[in-house]
Amino acid sequence: MIDLHAHTTASDGDLSPAALVARAAAHGVRVLAVTDHDTLAGVEDAMAAGTAHGVTVIPGIELTVTAAQGSFHLVGLFPHPRPAPLAGRLDELAHARELRARRILELLDGLGMPVGMEDVRRHTTGTIGRPHIAQALVDAGHCADRREAFERVLGDGRPAWIPQTGLAPAEAVRLVRDGGGAAVIAHPWSLRLGHRGVEATAAALVRHGLVGLEVHRPEVLPDQRDAYARIARRLGLVASGGSDFHTPGAGAELGHTGTPGLPADACERLFTAIGQRVPSVHDHS
Ligand code: AMP
Ligand code: ZN
Ligand code: FE
Ligand code: FE
Repeated sequence: MIDLHAHTTASDGDLSPAALVARAAAHGVRVLAVTDHDTLAGVEDAMAAGTAHGVTVIPGIELTVTAAQGSFHLVGLFPHPRPAPLAGRLDELAHARELRARRILELLDGLGMPVGMEDVRRHTTGTIGRPHIAQALVDAGHCADRREAFERVLGDGRPAWIPQTGLAPAEAVRLVRDGGGAAVIAHPWSLRLGHRGVEATAAALVRHGLVGLEVHRPEVLPDQRDAYARIARRLGLVASGGSDFHTPGAGAELGHTGTPGLPADACERLFTAIGQRVPSVHDHS
């Protein structure tokens, strides 16, 4: 199995990079991209664990991108763990996340659901995100679980939601490309543009070096998946995908990328795009 989208404690995942890779190995994943929100901090530990567990770990990131219609996520997959010049921009993205978290806490205060920054910080070991705030709301007794926290206040469009600001789309794609990487639009429905809008956005970014579009994900319905696959084919993009694993027992398991899952030839095309040799079965025997 191949899984090209997963999170660790370097952002809002619940497993350390090493634990994530061990779990991936136990679930039969042979190629795993580690793609934390706006940070590369987990990739080196994950690569070391990959060597120990016989999993090919691809260093990656999930960049927050701010477009005219709102923000969306761009996955970057790299041939090495320190892709310059992107690495030099990550401090500023982490800072933007801190400022946004503080603004969300102010909104929560106004809604009568106060939590302190130190309560959020307790759950944060890397870049800060809404799941950490959700956990603080649970700890404070304001919500029964994180899911309720998103439904009531933190989810997109809810009363304590503030969109995360990030890089401009073309700039993000170029930073990934200039690091020798492959840029992939994540969960395309989150653009909230419909299929035509996704295609127009992707087409504009192809000129800057966009390589792929996530098609194979556990939550896409067959019609939606086919539509994204057609967009990818028309634009010459690789149909990528992954589980977007965050938490054991919640959401999709590692390696689950829908039915049919992410095919080996998509992985091969992405490896070619980042100048890597495709691992053969014998590499891990
Ligand atoms: P952020 O980067 O801080 O905007 O947080 C985005 C992350 O929040 C996603 O990667 C998910 O882990 C989580 N998330 C977003 N929306 C929801 C939701 N409706 N329910 C649960 N988790 C969510
Ligand atoms: Zn996340
Ligand atoms: Fe995402
Ligand atoms: Fe993600």
